Amino acid sequence: MQTLTVKCKLVLSKEQREALDTTMRAFAAACNDAIAVGRRLNTASNIRIHRVCYSDLRARHGLTANLAVRAIARAAGILKVKKRQCSTVRPTSIDYDARIFSFREADWTVSLSTVQGRIRVPLHIGDYQRTLLGSRKPTSAVVWKTRQGDYYIGIHINVETPPPEDEHGWIGVDLGIVNIATLDDGTAFSGDQIERVRARYERTRRSLQRKGTRGAKRVLKRLSGRERRFQQAINHTISRRIVDRAIAEGKGVRLEDLSGIRKSVRVRKSQRRRIHRWAFYDLRIKIAYKCALAGVPFELIDPRYTSQRCPVCGHTERANRKSQSKFVCRSCGLEANADVVGAINIALGGAVNHPEVALVDVETVLHGQDTGLRRRAATSPPSLGVGS
Ligand SMILES: [Zn+2]
Repeated sequence: MQTLTVKCKLVLSKEQREALDTTMRAFAAACNDAIAVGRRLNTASNIRIHRVCYSDLRARHGLTANLAVRAIARAAGILKVKKRQCSTVRPTSIDYDARIFSFREADWTVSLSTVQGRIRVPLHIGDYQRTLLGSRKPTSAVVWKTRQGDYYIGIHINVETPPPEDEHGWIGVDLGIVNIATLDDGTAFSGDQIERVRARYERTRRSLQRKGTRGAKRVLKRLSGRERRFQQAINHTISRRIVDRAIAEGKGVRLEDLSGIRKSVRVRKSQRRRIHRWAFYDLRIKIAYKCALAGVPFELIDPRYTSQRCPVCGHTERANRKSQSKFVCRSCGLEANADVVGAINIALGGAVNHPEVALVDVETVLHGQDTGLRRRAATSPPSLGVGS
């Protein structure tokens, strides 16, 4: 099971918009009060903050019981993150749970609690959202306002994915920089284009940062938005192709858990790292969504050793990975593209949780000839069939 967020635009009357604006202000003020209490008590505990200020917050900001509960939860969440301990909440969003929000499929509306009572709001949605929301009982949501003055709701739903049975087989996806995504059959989605565009943005960014004026900062912000949209479009195409293949072959999709990206991301600039992290996360989300929609099994696996294990003989050693792109097994001599080896190990379920799985035969590893896979004279066990 996985939790997805379905984003829909809210179709609001003028009165409803005012009700939400007032609620956002009250909610943010309550969050900030609760944060102040947490700081004073030197705690990030939801329960402790609640005990001290719950009734106070309700009275002072006119919040319903569960809006106050959500505000305290938000405050506790912020206090738990060291970097955010100095931040304040702006009046642009509200958190909802099952008691103060509900979704009705009959007319595609949501009911939201506000400081001026409940409002029922139609959703502006397409087939995509309908498919995801249809016959589901969402339990929480976030409402937010954009700079342009549009209002959105992100509805959290739980999606049951078919039980991952190993019989149907898996497509393994290895994430990287040189190749954004590599599949276990050798298909690679090159990162060239993205890196070129990224480098261009990077140059512009640097010169703007040197300027440091207010206008330059505005342009910077716009640039990062544009860069993200570009990356999103590419991620959309990649995820589409991966999931289409999974559907056609009746397989599930396996991906490394996010923490795994560290292994291939060695960049100095924090800005670059942030964008990469974001890009991987975005790609993962897009694959997860498309899998959920198509009923394709989706699994995240432990990424440890997936770049070091030989998928033919199982020998695992850091030195197996000779370079960014080259894998040479120190035991059986298998020579292959490192990304493809990673993807095969991911398809097998990872090297940690499935160390005992039947490993693949050489032909399976070498079928992707165009990705630089080659046989090499074996130095040890010739019985494995890795002849010259
Ligand atoms: Zn080997």
